[in-house]
Amino acid sequence: MIDSLYGTVLGSGMSQAWIAIFVILLVRYVAIAGSAVLIWYGWRRPQRYVKKIQQRWPRLADYVREIGYSILTFIIFSGIAMLVLAGPVRPYTHVYGDVAEYGWGYFAASLVAVLLIHDAYFYWAHRAMHHPSIYRWVHLTHHRSTNPTPLAAFAFHPLEAVVEAGVIVVIAFLIPVHPGVILLFVLIMTLDNVYGHLGWELYPKNFQRHPIGRWINTSISHNQHHRHVQGNYGLYFLWWDRWCGTLRPDYDATFDEVSGRDTAGSLPAA
Ligand SMILES: [Zn+2]
Ligand SMILES: [Zn+2]
Repeated sequence: MIDSLYGTVLGSGMSQAWIAIFVILLVRYVAIAGSAVLIWYGWRRPQRYVKKIQQRWPRLADYVREIGYSILTFIIFSGIAMLVLAGPVRPYTHVYGDVAEYGWGYFAASLVAVLLIHDAYFYWAHRAMHHPSIYRWVHLTHHRSTNPTPLAAFAFHPLEAVVEAGVIVVIAFLIPVHPGVILLFVLIMTLDNVYGHLGWELYPKNFQRHPIGRWINTSISHNQHHRHVQGNYGLYFLWWDRWCGTLRPDYDATFDEVSGRDTAGSLPAA
């Protein structure tokens, strides 16, 4: 099915391929980020509000800005993906069309490799974009959401969108990769990104101290990044932050505070 979808994209003109990839990205955003907003922000249950990481609601202007920049991001993402997967750059890459060429074992292993490559790429690109000489021109757009909603997951300045999409170029030139792996990678990335901007933590109390959990990035960690701007630069994992000393020193205490809130106690006004 993936092969036939890819064949359809390849068989059509480049502009149709661009539109097809744009629609895939947009539908995923609407389905995943949209349902997260409906579930967590649409039904404002007081019990749920107690656990909201930052106890305030975003303004309407925040939702609108996050949606607008995300659509711009998808236009850029799909344009770059089209060039690499279906356009003139593809013959020079390691992108391959037949799963049998490397087998399903490699297909699965390459998905893990893609996530590890993206995690490292994101961490270092993200840190670079926090350099004072770049920050206000590029990355500030994403940080205008100091109390992010799931809709902020792709709310980037167009230049940041180019940087973020650059990982597809790096992957395509680095390792043999099937378009199906790219599709799965984008799905996992979207789910994780929406979780990171959710505004609520889904992992249980003390997760940040668990031998495995301490290496996994959490919604609280990325929410702290939006609130305080400095520290917690990771995407899927926390090892780069822990190895490089950029994990915020108040991460453990904030995780304890948010996950330890008593929903049976007094409820703050929404
Ligand atoms: Zn940032
Ligand atoms: Zn963010």
